[in-house]
Amino acid sequence: MTWIDSHCHLTYDGLAERLDEVLDRAAAVGVTDCVCIGTDLKNAVRVLELSDQYSNIHAVAGVHPHEAGKVEKGWVEALTGIVSRGDVYAVGEMGLDYHYDFADRDAQKRVFEAQLAIAADVAKPIVIHCREAHVDTLEILEAAAPTSPVVFHCFTGTLNEALEIIDAGYWISLTGVVTFKKSDELREVARRIPGDRLMVETDSPYLAPEPVRSKRPNEPAYVVHTGRCIAEVRGEDIEAFATRVRANTIRFYGLPTHAAAAPGK
Ligand SMILES: [Zn+2]
Repeated sequence: MTWIDSHCHLTYDGLAERLDEVLDRAAAVGVTDCVCIGTDLKNAVRVLELSDQYSNIHAVAGVHPHEAGKVEKGWVEALTGIVSRGDVYAVGEMGLDYHYDFADRDAQKRVFEAQLAIAADVAKPIVIHCREAHVDTLEILEAAAPTSPVVFHCFTGTLNEALEIIDAGYWISLTGVVTFKKSDELREVARRIPGDRLMVETDSPYLAPEPVRSKRPNEPAYVVHTGRCIAEVRGEDIEAFATRVRANTIRFYGLPTHAAAAPGK
């Protein structure tokens, strides 16, 4: 049984300093590949170094809404240059975070809209970070009318919000939050997502799933726990489920075909 962690942050503290060990543990449980997300221009450079070094780490780059207040002159050109590379598979994570509000909301919106334009320019998939900003996020997406696939990563909203996202034609990716005891509504979401528009991720080093929730930090190997939980609530055979979400991830990002074969460094 093989999996892909469709969204993680391997350059962050807790994982970066012991990456070989982390990747070995992932490989040992069948996690063959990781999609590693760069959250600002500086971080994207680190992510690209990793993807150069490891053939099973795939890069995505964007400006996280938390960083939207810190962009410098020329950032659009710089990010466009990065995501134009053949080995960068999507633009993001981008979007709006009204829970933390680390950046001014107008700045968040401007930086989000600019990245949607970049994604259209380079014709690459879009990774959305949306926290307590469902209405504005959907409105901005609707106005931009992206022709590339869009995923709401680490979805933790309501069932109604999930159904609106699905109706709009977008994808949903779930983290270990779905395994938490109180996440009954999110498990209902997991049951209702069309099987061909669903991915699983760790968002590591954050959000370790049950039963390893108390362990810090989260890491790609733990995507198996989240996958098992979702397969159970959907009443699907875990092996068939793993195969399908893995194929979904390869299709969404357009990952190289070696991702479909054996793991490798
Ligand atoms: Zn993330």
